[in-house]
Amino acid sequence: MTEPLTLANSYLDLPEGCYARVGPTEVSQPQLLRINRPLAEQLGLDPEALAAPEGLAALAGNRVPEGAEPLALAYAGHQFGNFVPQLGDGRAVLLGEVTDRSGVRRDLQLKGAGRTPFSRAGDGRASLGPVIREYLVSEGIAGLGIPTTRALAMVATGDPVLRQRVEPGGVITRMAAGHVRVGTFEYFFRRGDYDTVRALADYVIERHYPALAESDQPYKDLIEAVATRTADLVADWLLVGFIHGVMNTDNIALSGETLDYGPCAFMDDYHPATVYSSIDTGGRYAYDQQPTIAHWDLARFAETLLPLLADDPDEALPIAKEALDAYEPRFSASYHAGLQRKLGLTEDRDSDPDLAMDLLGRMAAQGADFTLTFRRLSELGSEPDEADEAVRALFADPASFDAWAIAWRSRLAAEGSDDAARRDAMRAVNPAYIPRNHRVEQAITAAMDHGDLAPIDELLTVLTDPFADHPGYEHLAAPPASHEVVTQTFCGT
Ligand code: AMP
Ligand code: MG
Repeated sequence: MTEPLTLANSYLDLPEGCYARVGPTEVSQPQLLRINRPLAEQLGLDPEALAAPEGLAALAGNRVPEGAEPLALAYAGHQFGNFVPQLGDGRAVLLGEVTDRSGVRRDLQLKGAGRTPFSRAGDGRASLGPVIREYLVSEGIAGLGIPTTRALAMVATGDPVLRQRVEPGGVITRMAAGHVRVGTFEYFFRRGDYDTVRALADYVIERHYPALAESDQPYKDLIEAVATRTADLVADWLLVGFIHGVMNTDNIALSGETLDYGPCAFMDDYHPATVYSSIDTGGRYAYDQQPTIAHWDLARFAETLLPLLADDPDEALPIAKEALDAYEPRFSASYHAGLQRKLGLTEDRDSDPDLAMDLLGRMAAQGADFTLTFRRLSELGSEPDEADEAVRALFADPASFDAWAIAWRSRLAAEGSDDAARRDAMRAVNPAYIPRNHRVEQAITAAMDHGDLAPIDELLTVLTDPFADHPGYEHLAAPPASHEVVTQTFCGT
């Protein structure tokens, strides 16, 4: 047999406390549900070999690939603002790393692979519904061009897991640029183990921010670089109506990728206070709170680097603060530039943020669908015509849209906007397809209740190419009918 997965493991070079060596636990009847062929190929892996029995055994956790040294990573984290000193990979085993076609090292992790020393009271398993959810939504985020972990494969285990009720178990193979989180730093900082904090910081610099290795203040620059990437990430989320749902510090990746697809959701109707997660009763992680929360999480990260910034804590604090101060303006610039693109504006005018906010305010008041409003806006011309009806129909009171459209069209005229070029540019940033909650739920139900995987494939067809029109798939672009609306999402993994 040629080994379908040849893996390195750079985490083994970190101090020992960073991980526990542990392999996956066998499952009884692994069944490969889906393999992500384009991703496998990007990783330089052979999808056929992965789907063959030896490959499937590895993806299910029934066989450790030859030469692999699997482990579970230690981390802590602030959950809903409260510090939990030990979390860690309680239901995930990091198999190792592959180098993709562009030369970037990528982690492969089996999530739902059995108990580890970090499992606490948990069973180390994942139920199949959330596995399918993560596969679909992370592929949706990737299709939108937003940095994210991805799904390489999903396997049904044949073993039941006990949650609210008994559910089928699953394992997802997750690919990430890296799995170090803010919570990884907190774990060692809170123990006073600053040597390991330094080792982690050096690891993150080498792996994710190599340009900083030459800096004469690498740790300060690291705070700023992570803040910058995170600001861009959160701006990306807002611009597609994504709500992460559980922005605890253990779910904030230092790589700047979207990590942890638990109770996340895309909004249908636009409202800034939208919350889907059943456990987020206070709205801490509501759509419009995400920029502030990310800043808070980054402050927890910066705190852990204080001992590396200066020997005297009084000196370290202003250095950290100065680095963190990069966050706000970066987020704001990134978000507003994104809104300008969504509106088809190519020049900068001071009044543009107000124009965008005015539209969002009207959308919120009128219950307009976030994705469709921008997509249909992309089709409009410089003068009102029949195409306007499609946008007007999304507003409870269409006159509210009309009033805004007058201002928008005069702004377009002011920069001499060319209709055809603008339409193309707008269509390239305003997706037709997002992983709508009701479609994701329907795909999960079809798979779990009837073994029907066709809805998953249908969804993936549009989610992997969301800026194109897909004739015949219009139903997947449509908002939910009133009886289809999903109002809550659950961690439930
Ligand atoms: P999450 O909600 O996915 O961010 O997980 C928070 C923490 O709970 C992490 O340390 C997980 O590893 C752990 N955890 C969640 N579910 C389980 C489970 N079924 N078994 C063991 N640990 C779990
Ligand atoms: Mg997590």
